[in-house]
Amino acid sequence: MIPRNPRLAALKAGYLFPEIAKRRREFAAAHPEDPRRPETRIISLGVGNTTEPILPCITEGLAEGAGKLGTAEGYSGYQDEGLPELRKRIADVFYRGAFSIDEIFISDGAKCDIGRLQLLFGPGTPAVIQDPSYPVYVDGSVLIGAAGAWAGTGYTGICYLPCTAENNYFPDLSLVPENALIYFCSPNNPTGAVASREQLGTLVNIARQRGCIIVFDAAYSEYIRNPALPKTIYEIPGAGECAIEVNSFSKPAGFTGVRLGWTVVPKELRYEGGESINTDWSRIASTIFNGASNIAQAGGLAALSEEGLKEIRRYCDFYLRNAALIRGALQKRGISCVGGDNSPYIWAHFPGRDSWDIFTEILEKCRLVSTPGSGFGPSGQSFIRFSAFGRLSDVEEACRRLSAFRMTTN
Ligand code: PLP
Repeated sequence: MIPRNPRLAALKAGYLFPEIAKRRREFAAAHPEDPRRPETRIISLGVGNTTEPILPCITEGLAEGAGKLGTAEGYSGYQDEGLPELRKRIADVFYRGAFSIDEIFISDGAKCDIGRLQLLFGPGTPAVIQDPSYPVYVDGSVLIGAAGAWAGTGYTGICYLPCTAENNYFPDLSLVPENALIYFCSPNNPTGAVASREQLGTLVNIARQRGCIIVFDAAYSEYIRNPALPKTIYEIPGAGECAIEVNSFSKPAGFTGVRLGWTVVPKELRYEGGESINTDWSRIASTIFNGASNIAQAGGLAALSEEGLKEIRRYCDFYLRNAALIRGALQKRGISCVGGDNSPYIWAHFPGRDSWDIFTEILEKCRLVSTPGSGFGPSGQSFIRFSAFGRLSDVEEACRRLSAFRMTTN
């Protein structure tokens, strides 16, 4: 018999969201909804899954892409690194043409690329991760065996950078070891914090001084409304030498199910020995990934047309309005929170309380599903993440319930 990969055994039991779903199911079984009493309906502000339909110009692009496949002239097969016109449009729209198309790789989503990117750097590369963080950075590092990350159950080998109320959710970068892979997410999931230009400047300087590479996750960049805040790491001089950026159509265009993203791997980015990381990424992409769906890419092109970009703006504005409602309801109850202004997540603080206990209390008293902050890392303890991805009527009802919410300790 073949033994199980020991790294799998080192993964923390249960991915966060299945655990939340299980607790919701158990609660619903014990306290069934009564269709005649809307207040008994369980509402979820838990997961980061989009809820709104894709807007018309983008949907048309998807439909056209599908239609073309049924014609001799329009048919296409494998497209490896992506449609050249989509790569060019991404370079122009998001990076002011600063990258050539062979530095932009189309993917089936940011999460998939984050997992694959780890193959560039063999086991033994230390992983530096914001705490709390989106779980794939940690779990992917454990699976790849980042610097002994799997050699136990405590994720030793991963350097956590606490992001707390005390440091205003930007970590102390003096903790970054040399020659490490730094995962950095801004706007951040789960805290909703967005790093300033000065903060990202410090990050890039540290990475260059210490021989590190940054994997910058910009999946929520289109939610940034404050023009002073950087939307891409490449707004920072020198980032091309030390950063890979992943991004996605999931959250700005509702492509969570369509699946489309991209990764920028600048040609100037090098390993210690001077070899090109861009060349290796191309090799990995063509070896274990055969390109994103051509239908999804047609939708992506439509999303980046003039009309599509307006739809992206409207789409994000909708969730940002939800975020403002949730934030307002929490603040009315005196609950301190951050995020939700340039991001779709609100990070609410319940000092001294256990995250899962607060989750349970909110579920029981408000019939509202949230996400316990501790599920995103040790520094998430005593926090709850509220997601603005929800139908407006649900968010309004959730806010009514939150406005009447009295915590046990209140
Ligand atoms: N990066 C972050 C920070 C996310 O929160 C998510 C999804 O929630 C993703 C990436 C996943 O993006 P995709 O749907 O493109 O895989």
